[in-house]
Amino acid sequence: MKIYMNDGLVDQSEAKVSVFDHGLLYGDGIFEGIRLYNGCVFKLEEHLERLEYSAKAIMLEMPWSRKEISNAVRETCSANGLKDGYIRLVVTRGVGSLGLSIKNCDRPQLIIIADKIQLYPEEFYENGLKIITVPTRRCNPAALPPTVKSLNYLNNILAKIEAQHLGYHEAIMLNDQGYVAECTGDNVFIIHKGELITPSASAGALKGITRDTALEIAEELGIPWRESNMTRYDVWVAEELFLTGTAAEIIPIVEVDARPIGDGKPGPITAKFLESFRRRVVSEGTML
Ligand code: PMP
Repeated sequence: MKIYMNDGLVDQSEAKVSVFDHGLLYGDGIFEGIRLYNGCVFKLEEHLERLEYSAKAIMLEMPWSRKEISNAVRETCSANGLKDGYIRLVVTRGVGSLGLSIKNCDRPQLIIIADKIQLYPEEFYENGLKIITVPTRRCNPAALPPTVKSLNYLNNILAKIEAQHLGYHEAIMLNDQGYVAECTGDNVFIIHKGELITPSASAGALKGITRDTALEIAEELGIPWRESNMTRYDVWVAEELFLTGTAAEIIPIVEVDARPIGDGKPGPITAKFLESFRRRVVSEGTML
């Protein structure tokens, strides 16, 4: 496999980072997870914009233009002969000294990995997924903004450990006020009385690219939507619930905290969202 490192492709065996890279030492860096469908990169500009915003938020100056990164993404996919897959774009703070200061890290590192994707089993989409709420709270946006897609994912990993320990694949994380923020790697949507509702970024949600696509689909389907604070009660009494994410796409949820959602089967509105999403991914991407 060929990996893109800084200014060109190298063999996987040569794709290495320094032990002094602050991405490794402190989780100081940012990333994006992007999908390649049928030779087209889905929502590439949106992912690159979010990467730029993440960089700006953590004061990481990327020496590459958007065009250069976008060309590097295409080059990596082509070099690996991929038509469908998952692209991991990572920018680390770079090599520095054994201290927190970013002052000695003068060269950020760009890494692009394009690989086959481990898809969720089709059964999740057909029968829906059961999830729970976990005790670990989502980071307060005033501490580490969840809108920054940073290399520091321990908050989410702790929640994932709790979920998996109890036999679940995904879990709802609440913010420090007790409102629903998001899942460990996905955004949350409920449908209640015909309306689509999702927590806002200020409640601790990542501004997911799939989340934005779901909102576009709501417009297309004529379903009113709004961002709102949401309690666990709101989730339990929703008629339908689904999660969105680059890897997960749109997944119906049929049970939360042992309460069935709606009639305990994937709902008809969620099915429409998934159908529209799957149509979009093959018609809207940027060609390699
Ligand atoms: N929330 C978190 C914490 C995530 O890591 C992700 C991405 N896996 C999402 C939401 C979904 O975002 P996107 O649709 O851009 O993949």
